[in-house]
Amino acid sequence: MTRTCNFCSTTYEAKRSSSKFCSGLCRSRARFTETMPNVAMQAGGALEATTLAELTAAGVHESVEASCALLLARRIDAGDGFTLSGLAATVREFRTTYKAAMVKAPPADTPLEVIRRRRAARMAEFVPDSDPIVGDSE
Ligand SMILES: [Zn+2]
Repeated sequence: MTRTCNFCSTTYEAKRSSSKFCSGLCRSRARFTETMPNVAMQAGGALEATTLAELTAAGVHESVEASCALLLARRIDAGDGFTLSGLAATVREFRTTYKAAMVKAPPADTPLEVIRRRRAARMAEFVPDSDPIVGDSE
């Protein structure tokens, strides 16, 4: 069935009637717009959306470096007023800022890492023990 994306208003072919978004990206954008109303998300700002998603997942979206990276991403997405060399310089600057923001990510305490470790621990419980349980029967 044909549906209209709740975020970017594109019409698309939906597999399920409960479908609300044309893509995972639009679902993420809609979610981030809800959870971070101070960051105005615009449809079409692919780099900014991806950057925000990654910075948020790493738990570093509130740093100065993250703000700078998002600002640069927005400028790159907008694409206006750039000469080719100007764009290249801005992309370089973005990558440096983005890396600086990501460096601040705590390696073990990000929500993603916590979930990953919790899942790994749960999986470990289901590994069948190769040794028979001593004294269980007989
Ligand atoms: Zn969409």
